[in-house]
Amino acid sequence: MALRFDILTLFPSMLRAVLSESIPRIAEEKGAVEYHLHNFRDNAEGVHQAVDDRPYGGGAGMVLKPEPIFKTIRQVQPLAEQPAHLVLLSPQGRVFTQGVAQELAGKPRILMLCGRYEGFDERIRQGFEWDEISIGDYVLSGGELPALVITDAIVRLLPGVLGDDASAEHDSFGPGLEGRLLEYPHYTRPVEFEGMRVPEVLQSGHHGEIAKWRLEQARKKTKERRPELLDEE
Ligand code: SAM
Repeated sequence: MALRFDILTLFPSMLRAVLSESIPRIAEEKGAVEYHLHNFRDNAEGVHQAVDDRPYGGGAGMVLKPEPIFKTIRQVQPLAEQPAHLVLLSPQGRVFTQGVAQELAGKPRILMLCGRYEGFDERIRQGFEWDEISIGDYVLSGGELPALVITDAIVRLLPGVLGDDASAEHDSFGPGLEGRLLEYPHYTRPVEFEGMRVPEVLQSGHHGEIAKWRLEQARKKTKERRPELLDEE
């Protein structure tokens, strides 16, 4: 069954532009995922359909109002049989990693809420059981890019989406590399380019030796660049 994404955003065209290209599009064409975009401004009241308002207590910026978001979530949840796993995109959430992507790839349905402005009225946090996720310790202008980062990382893990299933497994942080290692170096033709040669072992056709070399290279690269990943094993 397809993994269903419901994404709540004020900028659906930002998401559509990316989801209709490359791997996210292929995933949809292969029936592995469905993308449903919902603009919560459609549920805002008044002539101006305001989704934000000034913060109580003063201070800079505007805050997303609870009513349109509550209404949209309550409309969207019953659109499919399975209740969605609710993801609140926020720099205050748990940090997104390949492990979190793998965990989410096992869900039948995911609803993501993209914030904007100064963020959410706190009652939006309180009103639902959220998995609050951050894509890193920096602040973006909205949740659309985080939603795309998370969606892209998930869909490439779904069975049958990538041409060769093993290519996700052997990616950096993937399970095929003996724990959380960075990926080994890749080469393609020509065999020599501006004096730089493809290592002999990769041309040997000896699968055992190639696998050994790749594992050594992955360990070496990880030790040089991200030694803390080796300590986590
Ligand atoms: N004032 C908020 C704070 O300090 O936590 C940040 C608001 S940010 C300008 C607007 C929205 O962008 C957030 O509500 C969230 O949805 C999204 N966002 C920004 N940075 C993010 C990150 N690192 N991870 C996930 N979402 C993020």
